[in-house]
Amino acid sequence: MSLRDVGFYLRARVVGRLLRAANRRRPVAVAAPAPLEAVLAGHDAPLALTRLLEGRDNAGREAAVVRWLEARGVPFTRHAFATFEGRGETFAVDVGTGDRVLVLAAHHDAVPGSPGANDNAASVAVLLHLLGRLARGVPAGLRVRLLFPACEELGYLGARAWVRDHPPSDVVGVLSLELCGVGDALAVWDAEGTTPFLGRVCSALAGLDLRPDDDYHVVGRIPVFGSDHRAFAAAGVPAYGLTVVPRAEAAALRAFVFNPIRSTLNTLIRRPPPFDTYHTSRDSSATLSPAALAAVVTALEAIIVETAAHP
Ligand SMILES: [Zn+2]
Repeated sequence: MSLRDVGFYLRARVVGRLLRAANRRRPVAVAAPAPLEAVLAGHDAPLALTRLLEGRDNAGREAAVVRWLEARGVPFTRHAFATFEGRGETFAVDVGTGDRVLVLAAHHDAVPGSPGANDNAASVAVLLHLLGRLARGVPAGLRVRLLFPACEELGYLGARAWVRDHPPSDVVGVLSLELCGVGDALAVWDAEGTTPFLGRVCSALAGLDLRPDDDYHVVGRIPVFGSDHRAFAAAGVPAYGLTVVPRAEAAALRAFVFNPIRSTLNTLIRRPPPFDTYHTSRDSSATLSPAALAAVVTALEAIIVETAAHP
């Protein structure tokens, strides 16, 4: 147990307590989760796949990922961990055989009391949908690792445990998908300074005719918020968050995320989308946009090609 681990533990407890207080003010009834068999037999569009996890408790979410991978016959590795902070199981699916690894992560856990649709069932759904498309082939030289960490909501505990046990010496870049279902502009965040991998990400987005500071935003380190990529960044790997935001809210979002004190207070007052449903009982798939999810799939495919093309 390091001092850093204790810090994560305390911060998760404090933030969790504040958010639960905020949720109590405007609670809504959470719909029952979709029957698992119906989701497994259903469509693999990202919005449909969001219901694989939506509304389930964390044990149910973890089990649902396993069921989906097993039902599709997908080989995957399991990484169970237990520390004083919490316990869970992270899953990894490797596609391709290259020596260079691109990690795309989407945590499967959610804050208790929230259906966890945008955070983060939608991102898990995007990666599961992408997995079907990658079956047609990953460019030579690259291996795409789809990582589904547990316990992101406990200071990305699952990703920290993963990195501890899997030193990322072969990883060329990491994108952690968070809140990918609401909005019409992409945001790559925690991007301080340039790295070759960040260059690949930006040229991939430019290649899709997306315009910087409009269709997509590249922003620096965000206080308070964090995600699984930070476990890799701490190990020296270029690693960023990937989120979809409403274009019209870009200015309000910048003000929101870059003022940690105000953002903590705002969790009790007014938050711009997509943070208005973040960690609340209102985070349901009814708020998600199929176009946002499709845009993330398209962006990831372009990033894979671009990363493979430039060793
Ligand atoms: Zn999240």
